[in-house]
Amino acid sequence: MVANGSMKRNKIVAIVLLALIVLWVVVQFMPKGSQKTNAATTTPEVKMVEPPLFKVDSAMHFLRSQVEMGPRVPLSKGHNACGEWIVSKCKSYGAEITEQNTKVTDWEGNATPVRNIIAQWGKDKKSRVMLAAHWDTRWVADKDPKKENQKKPIDGANDGASGVAVLMELARLIHERQPEVGVDLVFFDNEDQGAPEWSTLSPQESNKTWCLGSQYWANNPHDIANVRYGILLDMVGGKNARFNMEATSMAAAGDVMGWVWNQANRLGYGALFVKEEIGGITDDHVYMNQAGVRSIDIVDMRPSTIAMGMGGFEFGHFHHALSDNLENIDPQVIEAVGKVVATALYNTK
Ligand SMILES: [Zn+2]
Repeated sequence: MVANGSMKRNKIVAIVLLALIVLWVVVQFMPKGSQKTNAATTTPEVKMVEPPLFKVDSAMHFLRSQVEMGPRVPLSKGHNACGEWIVSKCKSYGAEITEQNTKVTDWEGNATPVRNIIAQWGKDKKSRVMLAAHWDTRWVADKDPKKENQKKPIDGANDGASGVAVLMELARLIHERQPEVGVDLVFFDNEDQGAPEWSTLSPQESNKTWCLGSQYWANNPHDIANVRYGILLDMVGGKNARFNMEATSMAAAGDVMGWVWNQANRLGYGALFVKEEIGGITDDHVYMNQAGVRSIDIVDMRPSTIAMGMGGFEFGHFHHALSDNLENIDPQVIEAVGKVVATALYNTK
């Protein structure tokens, strides 16, 4: 038998069609990377985890709630109310609470109470992140330009309430969806009751009178064996805030700081989180590092030409003054800090 011409043509068409189908199937089921000839040389795309939405209105509500309680000076009504509020709020967001209630010695040598509050999620998780802020407020506005104000307590809308407000909004986020890591929120007490401007203590002696809550905690830490790193938030809501890279943080955990500042830049907050080092300060992160948690401080420090030397800085005009009130708060700063910390938290393994 001899195939006629038309049959031959049909056969050729069928073979070509079959070949095309086979080729299409092969291409479809080929691993995606191998379709690129330069697959080995292209940078792998890092997939970022999107945290739940950090709501600025909610954070601002938490900030105002604290200010409305009055100054949070140890032994005051406002302090007591705020401690209870932190505990019940964190419990409502599903945290396990541990408290450290003790007495330490203040700048004058008198006993002063400390109530550190530790709120934990995913306690059994082997990788953890510690986020901290102080919740007390300064008992005197000793840096207020007006002398008659210098013995009055401050609202501490920024110095105290802002850090706590961001932590509380993060607590709400964690309740909404837990990150891969376990979280320890630590609310330090008695950070801001240090020696006043008029004290005659030497700078070295004066230094030790600050951060009394975190000093106590550093000597009696909760289980920090699995904590990867720590972030302290202090004065994170001021108008015209600026977060430079504080020197003590850089020395202790420069990699963490670089990574967090990179996240800030990626989110569009490069003007706020400035990649320039600035002088080191005494804050709770010093004691977090001393306890063994590699920690950074996100703190409003503004480069200053008046301050002497490299990395000279000043805190804003509001610092330890009556002007540290709600009028001094910029919700956009709170939002930026909240989103940056949430991004860091949800992208840690
Ligand atoms: Zn302060």
